[in-house]
Amino acid sequence: MGDPSPKPLDRIERKSLLYKSGLGFHCINHVLGCSHGCRYPCYAFLMAGHHGRVSDYAEWCRPRIVGNALALLDRELARKRVAPHNVHLCLTTDPFMVGHPEVGAMSLAIVERLNRSGIPCSLLTKGRLPAELADRRRFPCDNTHGISLVSLDEDFRREWEPGAAPYADRIAALRRLHDAGRRTLVHIEPYPTPGIFEQDLSVLLAEVAFVDHIYFSGWNYNPRVSRDRASEAFYRQQRSTVRSTCARHKIECEVG
Ligand code: SF4
Repeated sequence: MGDPSPKPLDRIERKSLLYKSGLGFHCINHVLGCSHGCRYPCYAFLMAGHHGRVSDYAEWCRPRIVGNALALLDRELARKRVAPHNVHLCLTTDPFMVGHPEVGAMSLAIVERLNRSGIPCSLLTKGRLPAELADRRRFPCDNTHGISLVSLDEDFRREWEPGAAPYADRIAALRRLHDAGRRTLVHIEPYPTPGIFEQDLSVLLAEVAFVDHIYFSGWNYNPRVSRDRASEAFYRQQRSTVRSTCARHKIECEVG
């Protein structure tokens, strides 16, 4: 079932939208804040606080949408002499935020606009990837459809990703796009050490062994991990598990 109807989001205006991130790829973040409210903590939340864009966690969890995003995108694409190879949604918010269909609708409109210009997108969410993304007439490029997934345990999710979609829903939405012939990805970061949460990575990997690409990395920005002396050996072992699973299932593998 869909999320309950929320009231319309507050709007902000921006002067620019499409940019090249410090990580070297083009991004669009058409929302300020994120109701998923991850507590790892969320790096985007830390940065928004640092730059004075939000005053506290409660404000971060009340997203504001960029009302002029599509107009900006039209203008910026018209001005670009060289089109980006790919655009990522999103680096500092979530394109399919649970409980905010307005965000998802704008994300789809942005992907549609970029695809119309021949620019493929990579999408990453802790929400539910919409089934519409399978529609090749509306989204003709080879987009990559990704979910973040660091556990299968709902108690873990409630503690660390309280506003995000249940894990089973994320996987089901991804599977639907895979079955429709779309390219899929699982982003396993920040993967918890046993000091944070005890679980078996191979069970998680088995659930998503249908995907095209897996990215794995550890848990940063949390003193509980840097204090944990065994974490280095633990992550070495987990990386090896990821590599061997990927090799077995012919999945593209990337470990951080
Ligand atoms: S889903 Fe992403 S942007 Fe949103 S709170 Fe979690 S880590 Fe931050």
